[in-house]
Amino acid sequence: MRYISTRGKSPVCNFEQVLLTGLAPDGGLYVPETLPVFSQEEIASWGGLSYPKLAFKIIQPFIDGEIPDDVLERIIDESYEGFTHPAVAPLRMLDSNEWVLELYCGPTLAFKDFALQLLGRLLDYVLMRDNKKVAVLGATSGDTGSAALEGCRHCPNIDLFILHPYQRVSEVQRRQMTTIPGDNVHNIALRGNFDDCQRIVKAAFGNQQFLPENRQLVAVNSINWARIMAQIVYYFSASLQLGGPQRPVSFSVPTGNFGDIYAGYLARQMGLPIDQLVIATNRNDILHRLISDNEYSLGELEHTLSPSMDIMVSSNFERYLFDLFDRDADKVAQFVTGLGKSPQKLDEGQWTRARELFSSLSVDDQTTCDVIADIYRTTGFLIDPHTAIGVKAARECRRQRSVPMITLATAHPVKFADAVEKAGLDSPALPPHLADLLEREERYAVLDNDIVAVTEFMQQHLC
Ligand SMILES: *Cc1c(COP(=O)(O)O)cnc(C)c1O
Repeated sequence: MRYISTRGKSPVCNFEQVLLTGLAPDGGLYVPETLPVFSQEEIASWGGLSYPKLAFKIIQPFIDGEIPDDVLERIIDESYEGFTHPAVAPLRMLDSNEWVLELYCGPTLAFKDFALQLLGRLLDYVLMRDNKKVAVLGATSGDTGSAALEGCRHCPNIDLFILHPYQRVSEVQRRQMTTIPGDNVHNIALRGNFDDCQRIVKAAFGNQQFLPENRQLVAVNSINWARIMAQIVYYFSASLQLGGPQRPVSFSVPTGNFGDIYAGYLARQMGLPIDQLVIATNRNDILHRLISDNEYSLGELEHTLSPSMDIMVSSNFERYLFDLFDRDADKVAQFVTGLGKSPQKLDEGQWTRARELFSSLSVDDQTTCDVIADIYRTTGFLIDPHTAIGVKAARECRRQRSVPMITLATAHPVKFADAVEKAGLDSPALPPHLADLLEREERYAVLDNDIVAVTEFMQQHLC
């Protein structure tokens, strides 16, 4: 499998090369040159497979022999072993034909475990085999950090540096990162917001001179292709549980960086019958404004009760634009870089095409709390604020009652106690493996919002 950049000016890569990097050198994101497409018969034949066996079928073509199949199978099995539900990604019914896909049964209680448990093991295998060392550098608004640390902490060839905005993540989220032991684990609380963290990470990737020779940075946010790849699987899994592929299904996806929903788009391109994909956003609504009004323009970053979606510009949207613009890389670059100067618009034809598949809704904090309270009252099921936004958008945007509508439940409500309490409910107890989280010892450095402070810290702490 060959991977190309959405900006068209980087050399073609193989899987290992895209795994071990971040953005392409031209500033674009890597995508497969061609997607595997599965027939309806083949998808139907996967109906009885366990989650890891299904994952192998879907992931194998993207790796295409670069990792031997038996090794890949073992890596995938191990990635999902620690999930607390036997189905790995169980479905729960809310109402007739209305479903929630619970993606928080992994070690850090958010869907990011699906990708990062696998990514950590893939990196470990490739680095061992090639006798290479790397530094993982990532910014987190909360959930990516702990999932990345959990996924990579056992890899002796990786030093991990995770930046979070100082005092801007919830206590549970912070402690999930800062209580992880290990000499290779380094948490940095940056005096700034999430965008500042991202800016510094981007700058460090752009100039890696500060690293010792033969060391490179690896990205763990969803610009890393391997993360997207892992997330395609649960769209197939959910569909197969609800009568797919014979029967189409729709998904509503709480969206920040557009990684999760882009994986749903890819599942559809690969042959899975998906009727609708709903982009569910909080007040950071650039994608909603594009889908509803054909206006793609920067707004002010707002802090909401769903902090994992407090993102101004969704980086993975570029991967979708690449297809929407019929893979015209120059057009992609123009549209994406133009955003910094002035609002952008799609052509009528492109906008219509986007709206045939995607619908969207922006949900404010008050409505988010109302939905949490309402779902609890009517079903006894407690959802987190990101999931609540998904459920609201699913209900508002749904076109066909006869098509099952599945909202992705992206995090466990215990991670977002303030939203649950604002909804007038008691925050739930921590699950057994995290029961003593509030007593564990924390370790993190507080650094100024300054690239040099961060790179010097990294130099001092590389193993
Ligand atoms: C990361 C995250 C999201 C957003 O996912 P994207 O892939 O960035 O769109 C939504 N909900 C939760 C709980 C998250 O952690």
